[in-house]
Amino acid sequence: MLVIKKFGGSSLATPARIIAVARRCAEDYQKGDDVVVVLSAIGQATDDLLSLARQVSDRPPKREVDMLISTGEQVAAAVMAIAMSAQGIRAVSLNAFQAGLRTSGSYGNARFRKIDTERIRHELDDRKIVIVTGFQGINKYNDLTTLGRGGSDTTAVALAAALHADACEIYTDVDGVYTADPRICPTARKLPEISYDEMLDLASLGASVLHNRAVEMAKKYDVSLVVRSSMNRNEGTVVREVTGVERMLISGVALDKNIDRITVIGLKDEPGVAFRLFSIFAKGGVNIDLILQSSGHDGLKDISFTLADEDADEALALLEKSRPRLRYRELDLDRGVAKLSVVGVGMMSNPGVAARMFEALYNEGVNIQMISTSEIRITVLVDEREGEHAVRAVHDAFELSE
Ligand code: ADP
Ligand code: ASP
Ligand code: MG
Repeated sequence: MLVIKKFGGSSLATPARIIAVARRCAEDYQKGDDVVVVLSAIGQATDDLLSLARQVSDRPPKREVDMLISTGEQVAAAVMAIAMSAQGIRAVSLNAFQAGLRTSGSYGNARFRKIDTERIRHELDDRKIVIVTGFQGINKYNDLTTLGRGGSDTTAVALAAALHADACEIYTDVDGVYTADPRICPTARKLPEISYDEMLDLASLGASVLHNRAVEMAKKYDVSLVVRSSMNRNEGTVVREVTGVERMLISGVALDKNIDRITVIGLKDEPGVAFRLFSIFAKGGVNIDLILQSSGHDGLKDISFTLADEDADEALALLEKSRPRLRYRELDLDRGVAKLSVVGVGMMSNPGVAARMFEALYNEGVNIQMISTSEIRITVLVDEREGEHAVRAVHDAFELSE
């Protein structure tokens, strides 16, 4: 049996935890399984490296940022191999080059293109635990790229698919996937299992417990995932295609604080305006999320949209540059917004979910700034300061607790 085991930064935050993880991996190895371990950077190492870059530059070049932050995972992998060898376990650490992890070119947001598993296979055949750096890859220029924050989960799933692993286990600092972030919502309940689609929505809408690309890839290659704690032996959450449990109305509530809102004020109210505006972002590679257009008055209208906060400066620069073409009056940037979503396939056949959510927010005096819906989710934009409170209110309105 071949097992992929991925450990996040908090699971490696102290030498004692690293030693505990090494022991846990050794158990499977000693049973006779082949074990590939995927690691994130230790503790907050990625944040520390990013803050170092920002202390020397306002806009650090993306290539160099990737070169910098990919060192975090290399440290973790090497230290783990050292900890394992101290326990008498044969182990080898491999970085993206050595492990054959090839990606697309986009720094900071690369995608896997191809995984050349020869070296990993060779080391497994030699009966070693193979420790692979998460979060990083090599592009066609042989430059290091990273996969986006939280991307080590995606490395684990990509390796599970490429190596046809029998299990892919994601170890983290909570016991599994909950109905809301258990750190924000104490009444949140652990889900025994969740479908790919629901998990993908939760992950994309702010539930950082899994990287959304990891879920996307798991669905595509039919890799079932187990999310569980590295600190105890409790059963985790299985993420897979069909779920055995009766469909709940709502499977979870997610909050994303890492977004901003830009409003373009005083655009001409005529055909082609939205097209011109959003094609600028399409060309500039900036992803736009929610969009709201005001109804026109006096021949003018406003368009508001949300986007990842790391893209806001870029978007403003693009808008400034296109000002003569777009002919708007002014721009407004609001950094203090958060996106709150409820997700669940059960809502497809149940009208009234939106009303229940809006009522919960109204009861708590939370103002809704934008709304967006799909078949299995409802998203609202709220003031960031009210975000966590709103999560608890909505979670309890759907009686998701035990
Ligand atoms: P790791 O370093 O192990 O990758 P992350 O911090 O990326 O860990 O993800 C785990 C965190 O995800 C938890 O500590 C929790 O606060 C957060 N989280 C957000 N939403 C959820 C949810 N629905 N279920 C469980 N954890 C969640
Ligand atoms: N170390 C990276 C990050 O902090 C990748 C990960 O944790 O998955 O985003
Ligand atoms: Mg993570």
